[in-house]
Amino acid sequence: MTPAADRTAESLLAFWAEAGVDAMLLDAPFDRIAAGAIAAVRVPERKPLAVAAKPASRGPDVEALAAQARALAAAAPDLAALAAAIEAFDGCPLKFEGAARRSVFSRGSSDAPLMIIGEAPGGEEDAQGAPFVGRSGQLLDRMLAAAGLAERAFITNTVFWRLPGDRPPAAPDQAICAPFLERAIELVAPKMLLLVGGTAAKAMLKRDEGILSLRGRWFEWRAADGAELPAMPTLHPAFLLRQPAAKKKVWSDLLTLTERLDRPERP
Ligand code: URA
Repeated sequence: MTPAADRTAESLLAFWAEAGVDAMLLDAPFDRIAAGAIAAVRVPERKPLAVAAKPASRGPDVEALAAQARALAAAAPDLAALAAAIEAFDGCPLKFEGAARRSVFSRGSSDAPLMIIGEAPGGEEDAQGAPFVGRSGQLLDRMLAAAGLAERAFITNTVFWRLPGDRPPAAPDQAICAPFLERAIELVAPKMLLLVGGTAAKAMLKRDEGILSLRGRWFEWRAADGAELPAMPTLHPAFLLRQPAAKKKVWSDLLTLTERLDRPERP
């Protein structure tokens, strides 16, 4: 493939992934051999090899690690202590997967009315120790400034360590980090959340739809302790760098959000 074709294919794949297309499967099985689409291939029968029984490999005990994170988070009286607790926490496997030099917690105002939650730190974030400081973060900042939100946001992620290959975090990684994130929400006490990208939106709202169907709508985020906050998903700025035409959707989401943020509270 030419470099231009490579870029087109990459951008198309990214678009599908962001839109929630994560499996190349139909909902119901479709027998293409019976339908005559491809000729049946005869595979010679082989005797199964005798393989020594292997103990089922067990992943980390997510519940126990999340409980550890919850205890540490609860003991943090402020954001500085919470950042230190995250940095010292050894329970998140991402810390030891080789991509992270340090934990990356937050930036922005500690009493912000808006909390922005992204997916995971990338290379630039890992180098600088702050979320959303790479190319996509710079685009996010420009959009926040244009919407008058630059000084009114606290920015963080669903996980606090960079992942190998900058792959999206898996649910267990997010579950282990969630108590720290919930404590951050408790300490900042924002009026609402902006969930940036499908990975953050799905994790925070426990929903399966793609981001193109979730974005621009209000949902209720619920913490493990029952606390609730209005939350709006929007497209990730990394997606906007690949699909600039989608910027108008995020702009419209930011205007809807700002309107609610500035609405006088009823007595
Ligand atoms: N993308 C994210 O989701 N978070 C960051 O901090 C940087 C890029």
